[in-house]
Amino acid sequence: MATLEIRDLHVSVDAEGGPREILKGVDLTVKQGETHAIMGPNGSGKSTLAYSLAGHPKYTVTGGQVLLDGEDVLEMSVDERARAGLFLAMQYPVEVPGVSVSNFLRTAATAVRGEAPKLRLWVKEVKEAMAALSMDPAFAERNVNEGFSGGEKKRHEILQLELLKPKVAILDETDSGLDVDALRIVSEGINRVRSTGEVGTLLVTHYTRILRYIKPDYVHVFAAGKIVESGGAELADKLEEEGYESYVKGGA
Ligand code: ADP
Ligand code: MG
Ligand code: MG
Repeated sequence: MATLEIRDLHVSVDAEGGPREILKGVDLTVKQGETHAIMGPNGSGKSTLAYSLAGHPKYTVTGGQVLLDGEDVLEMSVDERARAGLFLAMQYPVEVPGVSVSNFLRTAATAVRGEAPKLRLWVKEVKEAMAALSMDPAFAERNVNEGFSGGEKKRHEILQLELLKPKVAILDETDSGLDVDALRIVSEGINRVRSTGEVGTLLVTHYTRILRYIKPDYVHVFAAGKIVESGGAELADKLEEEGYESYVKGGA
């Protein structure tokens, strides 16, 4: 059973005027099969956490540890993180000029699996996953992220998730920019992956609306660079009613 452990993680970002500490001691354990939601106000550092786990060069880890099954994730290259079973949608470039979705996905699957998937089986696998996400087959021939709408980007993200079968997936703001139909389809995709019991999911979001479709096992409130409260799914209901005000006031 795979486990991602984040221990007392401190991260700084290179801002004008020097480094600025954004993450101030994050502790979190995500096990395969569990769904955790990280919720918090804008600017609290949620995306910084996701980017740091993805190994984005702009973020410098100044303290703490990230372990996947005891292996030091912070020592791994971005590719090594993917091979180890971490899925971080934002690890990929915003646009990949001249690379089709279909080729991109096969390259990613080859990197993660350690060998190229057999072409005929792969085509079938992609077709089925796309159909499940109500995606037009023509989408596979488009260039990655070129002119994608918000909804298409998110569907592409969930398509990767379904095909790459990671141990732990980190999804940042998966519900932003989605209309209600797209939100439902994306949520169903996440729930399908979840129902295998083989993926641990860290769902990072500002909004509570995706949690109407995906019931998390744990909810964590993030404020001023760390987790300030943890609970079950009922904590999301409380946040929906009361907002983040009580966590921000006098917090940072
Ligand atoms: P959230 O995702 O919770 O809205 P972020 O992690 O995006 O929060 O940002 C947390 C804080 O760090 C914000 O105050 C933001 O301005 C700052 N920050 C994040 N990335 C950078 C960066 N690359 N350069 C300067 N400041 C940054
Ligand atoms: Mg964010
Ligand atoms: Mg902060």
